[in-house]
Amino acid sequence: MKEPIQYDPVTGLPDRAYLWSLLDDTLKQVLRNTSNAGVLLIQLNNMDDIKSRIGDEGTNEFLSLMASRIKKCLWDLDTAVQFENDRFVIVANSIHKQEDIHTVLKKVQDYLTIECEIMGKKISPSTAVGVVLLPVDTTEIDEVMSFAGSAVQIAASRGDNSYYYFNEEIGKIVEQQEVVKTSILSTLAEESFVLMLQPKIDINSRKICGVEALVRMRDSENNIISPDEFIPVAENSDLILKIGDWVLEKAQSINNGWKKAGINLPISINISDVQFKNGASLLASLHKLSRENADESFDLILEISENIITHDVTLASALMSEIKSYGYQISIDGFGSGFSSLSVLKDLKIDEIKIDRHFLDNVPSDEKNTAILKSIIMLGKSMDFRVVAMGVESEEQFEIIKSHDCDEFQGFLVSKPMVETDFLDWYKNYNG
Ligand code: C2E
Ligand code: MG
Repeated sequence: MKEPIQYDPVTGLPDRAYLWSLLDDTLKQVLRNTSNAGVLLIQLNNMDDIKSRIGDEGTNEFLSLMASRIKKCLWDLDTAVQFENDRFVIVANSIHKQEDIHTVLKKVQDYLTIECEIMGKKISPSTAVGVVLLPVDTTEIDEVMSFAGSAVQIAASRGDNSYYYFNEEIGKIVEQQEVVKTSILSTLAEESFVLMLQPKIDINSRKICGVEALVRMRDSENNIISPDEFIPVAENSDLILKIGDWVLEKAQSINNGWKKAGINLPISINISDVQFKNGASLLASLHKLSRENADESFDLILEISENIITHDVTLASALMSEIKSYGYQISIDGFGSGFSSLSVLKDLKIDEIKIDRHFLDNVPSDEKNTAILKSIIMLGKSMDFRVVAMGVESEEQFEIIKSHDCDEFQGFLVSKPMVETDFLDWYKNYNG
């Protein structure tokens, strides 16, 4: 005899125990009828940050709203289950063809991510979805949720509102991610991350006016690993918050040392979208840093990606005001690659924009890129932002940005990123 269904008290959905009998029935059915079914594992992202903004009561209201949205997307033969606190499962028995699952997926994801207001706070829900198709991917009940778990892990590492279909390659990808995670953990424990410094140059005087700090990791064989390889993996867990804190503290300590040696150069730091989304934790780290360095003057510039600002402008604006109140400058990184409108920018407390490196590709021979580059510089200047061009590799590119009144640049034309000791040697000998 089957156990009676237990319902989650917050969301009113059947709880996890029911999922196993549901999957058992579904697998029997797809095998008997040679039909298809799909399992969607839906994860709500940034729950820690949401919780810190709206408290326990608000979080329950939020989860209940998400569950009611999911229920509205279901067809008769589909069932939703509360799997974990911030994870739901939909078992879609209604699909005829495998492609039908995509319709369900898109509908659920579109509906869940509509902005909502809870306890007077605007929330932009973000999801990651892992998909397993039955019987194509597996007919083993034990494998269904572990496959869905791997798929959602990959989806989550690909940014907001991504999804991932389970496939044969997934094992390898997850395994690689686990290797990188282990490396990150040991690098954190040994404090053996490396901060490389790339000079920022004032265009008119051609003097050095700051540096950007760019993190690197060393693997067990002492090879240097690029951030593009480990930052996305770290962003999939709270490891990115730990790396972010390390970078902040290291940059501040370099800055303190330089001040004592009479070197007054601001240091720019990259803030990951995940750090920015966990705004409460970022502010706590900045607050701690300012407390611990109360006797030092502050010269850090936080680089925030353009896309994260457009994601939730009200929230971004409030967070940026707080960051500024601690004495940090704000720079918008990768500018031009996102979709920020003028009306958004004018109300934000921005000091600097950094033009996305790709707008300098093949400039000046690529006329379109050259035209875009010029208009971005003009736009930034008209809004009184300091404008920095990224990735300047040739004198020709330098002449173009100079002729359009760009303020600063960074790029291989002057120097690649260097470790601190090399940077200091270079700095002593640099004469524009
Ligand atoms: P980003 O912030 O846009 O950094 C600039 C990247 O452009 C750096 O790559 C830099 O080495 C490269 N670059 C600079 N000048 C030139 C040039 O003239 N030509 C070319 N081809 N490339 C140039 P890197 O160091 O590999 O960093 C890549 C990205 O990794 C950074 O992009 C940033 O988004 C991320 N990153 C680096 N350090 C950190 C960090 O501490 N925290 C976080 N969250 N992200 C970081
Ligand atoms: Mg940057």
